[in-house]
Amino acid sequence: MAKGPSPLQLRFVQSAKRHVDLPPSPAEVAMVGRSNVGKSSLVNALANRRQLARVSNTPGRTQLINLFVLPSGATVVDLPGYGYAAVPGREKAGWQAMIEGYLTEREGLELLFLLVDGEIGPTKLDLQMIDWLHDNGIPFVVVATKSDKVRPSRLAGRRQQVAAACRLEEGDVFWVSAAKGTGIDRLRQHVLDVLAAPRGA
Ligand code: GDP
Repeated sequence: MAKGPSPLQLRFVQSAKRHVDLPPSPAEVAMVGRSNVGKSSLVNALANRRQLARVSNTPGRTQLINLFVLPSGATVVDLPGYGYAAVPGREKAGWQAMIEGYLTEREGLELLFLLVDGEIGPTKLDLQMIDWLHDNGIPFVVVATKSDKVRPSRLAGRRQQVAAACRLEEGDVFWVSAAKGTGIDRLRQHVLDVLAAPRGA
């Protein structure tokens, strides 16, 4: 991990059960993905902080919307992970209402980063999410995590497969490894660019 402060200086603000309980934001990006996809590790890598987002050993437990703020006032939201098998049906429905409410109603949301596991590729739930995002006109890009788990000789092929499975161009999928730091600078810059130039400004 690189030494020194990250250009993406995130400070934790609060967790909320519902997006309506969050303070307003001038510009926001959000991260979502199934439990265990590597979201907490990625948030920590982007901020270059080890413990900012808890790297959980108990997938499915982080059931709240977590809000972080940059010095500029722009914000980053870490949405709870989906698709953990042990989560009972009622909780799943609650998750869906929470996420759908957030994604369709949150003012200031510029871009959603949908994380998929680069080794496994998009799951059925990831593909459902992509369909739903298209149907609802939510701007998003895909981030393929854990690229270090893909053998270098296979990476070019995996890039093609994951993009095709997500029905995206290869250039619309960011490949990252929070463990090795690969692709983190580029993704961080994209986050900063999006937050610096909000669509409504
Ligand atoms: P979350 O549930 O989406 O927040 O996922 P976590 O960040 O807690 O990570 C889930 C598991 O994947 C943990 O065991 C992490 O150590 C591991 N992991 C996360 N990112 C990477 C990565 O870039 N490479 C590898 N090899 N493992 C990772």
